[in-house]
Amino acid sequence: MRKMELHWKILIGMVLGLVFGFVMTYPDWGREFVSDWIKPWGTIFVKLLKLIAIPLILASLIKGISDLKDISKFKRIGLRTIGIYVFTTVVAITIGLLLVNVLQPGNGISEDTVAKLSETYASDSGVTSKLDEALKQKESGPLQFLEDMVPDNAVKAMSENALMLQVIFFTIFMGISMLLIGEERARPLKQLFDALNEVVLKMVDLIMLTAPYAVFALLANVVASSGDSDLLVALLKYAGVVVLGLFLMIVFYAILVSTYTQKNPFWFLKEISPAQLLAFSTSSSAATLPVTMERVEEHIGVDKEVSSFVLPVGATINMDGTSLYQGVAAVFAMQVLWPEGLVFSNQIIIVLTALLASIGSAAVPGAGMVMLVIVLESIGFPPNLYPIALALIFAVDRPLDMCRTIVNVTGDATVSMVVAKSVGKLGEPHPKEWDDHLEEVISK
Ligand code: ASP
Repeated sequence: MRKMELHWKILIGMVLGLVFGFVMTYPDWGREFVSDWIKPWGTIFVKLLKLIAIPLILASLIKGISDLKDISKFKRIGLRTIGIYVFTTVVAITIGLLLVNVLQPGNGISEDTVAKLSETYASDSGVTSKLDEALKQKESGPLQFLEDMVPDNAVKAMSENALMLQVIFFTIFMGISMLLIGEERARPLKQLFDALNEVVLKMVDLIMLTAPYAVFALLANVVASSGDSDLLVALLKYAGVVVLGLFLMIVFYAILVSTYTQKNPFWFLKEISPAQLLAFSTSSSAATLPVTMERVEEHIGVDKEVSSFVLPVGATINMDGTSLYQGVAAVFAMQVLWPEGLVFSNQIIIVLTALLASIGSAAVPGAGMVMLVIVLESIGFPPNLYPIALALIFAVDRPLDMCRTIVNVTGDATVSMVVAKSVGKLGEPHPKEWDDHLEEVISK
């Protein structure tokens, strides 16, 4: 019998999780049951993925760079990656702004709804903690991001997933130095990292065996812990605009893939779909990164020299879905709360700050909402309305976060294909299974 493909298994897990979570909102004990007995399985899965992120970046980036043979190629890959990331992000924000201005989701929101939403959420700890975080980020100077990228302690950098850019910096530095000491001398170290890389990719395969069950737990928990659904209905038009924009981004990626790399876009979307489904279930492109890397390298055929750099960098700085959402959310907040701010110059400012904000957003759930405050601040949005603006979009933030994370991950995968094609590093897929070498370690 043909084995069922992974994305179908994950999809079935997701649907069952949604249904189960929904059913559990009925009995009095349901929500607590999900939180005590179901949620931990999802959390363990996300932890396992995060656990291997740093070793994977380290091993694969060192392997990627030390395979290069020619350092100037790395410069080419680097510059192209950053250039294309900026391009796709600007496209995303522009699509978001066009849609929100044409469809005007803010117009249907009554004062009553605003009052109800701000009553429910303005002093909610979710909103206030996001505001606090945003204020902290705001205090930093313009070159802070460069300063933050350089670690003063390699081990400390590797001890925290949020410091991914520091790990990338250290690894590139080390990889280039390995090239400079010559192949012969670097060989033992290279072999070590090559083996580590294979081991970590095998760990991804093993973790993915549990993905269909884990997404069940993750989604059951999202549904069972969600709040009042009446208010969701009021925000349906706004959410619809964001989702439509995100969908158009996926279409844009498909066009990019088919025109530039000449690959079938449906094949691309099918091969990357397990990563997309995990992005949706975890709302975190950082947690999804190991799976994105595995899919792009083994199932799409992007060479490690490209993917090992483009994908980890993309997970931290390229967030097309997040920037599109920021454009829509900022204008939506203006339409409802501050219509006098709706001038063309503010929309241009939104393009620039949403671009920077998406670079600065962490690849974790809800990060986009924190950076939204920075976007609002740049256009002179009245600070006393910040909590109300956040309250306005808070109710639908989680589902939208899940959707925009799909776009964040798909964008990274697309750019890795485009960059790979441009430097002649887009080859044939070579998928590996978790049990490829099983017979070697099991006695008959
Ligand atoms: N959750 C998103 C990510 O990890 C970031 C965000 O938009 O909040 O990619």
